[in-house]
Amino acid sequence: MDTIIFATNNQNKVNEVRAVLRNRFTVISLKEAGIDIDIPEPHNTLEANASEKSKTIFKLTGNNCFSEDTGLEVEALDGEPGVKSARYAGNNKNFDANIDKLLLNLKPQKNKTARFRTVISLIKDGKEFLFEGICNGKITDERKGTNGFGYDPVFIPDGSTNTFAEMDMNEKNKFSHRKKAMEKLIRFLNK
Ligand code: IMP
Repeated sequence: MDTIIFATNNQNKVNEVRAVLRNRFTVISLKEAGIDIDIPEPHNTLEANASEKSKTIFKLTGNNCFSEDTGLEVEALDGEPGVKSARYAGNNKNFDANIDKLLLNLKPQKNKTARFRTVISLIKDGKEFLFEGICNGKITDERKGTNGFGYDPVFIPDGSTNTFAEMDMNEKNKFSHRKKAMEKLIRFLNK
């Protein structure tokens, strides 16, 4: 089975991706690859940040690898927090504070439409390939559910009445932006 490094320190993301890949590839996280690094995300697009992460790990290891960057794009906030989703409420990447700020900013708005967008950058045999996944939905007025991570408690995907945080991982993966991008990656790797 092929081994591929997933350039992330987020164990939730690793679990979601493993559930999608099943046994087709062995995915190892940075930690499992023995790499202790927090790769910065300094750019103003998801594509550029994803690229930076995968290229950094490829330079370090010479291994095939992929990374992803995800943003929550809220229509009434002109696409914010977008690429800044992790640091929306400040540099300490606090999930709770990010949600508080989002709910406050959206309170006066009627339009709660939002989408998650994931960009995956794959480096295979030294060449880069990009894959995108989008999940459309809306932001709730208050938190619901305790599963998942990040903005999951306040995001309801189109086609459901539950937030991502009220779903288990398999149910989230029926809708998820990351799953859609991963499916494109898998199709490509299976070619
Ligand atoms: P990053 O891709 O780790 O930089 O994520 C950006 C921000 O979006 C972080 O605050 C994440 O917690 C959040 N985020 C990324 N993916 C998801 C998701 O699937 N659900 C909820 N929040 C997410």
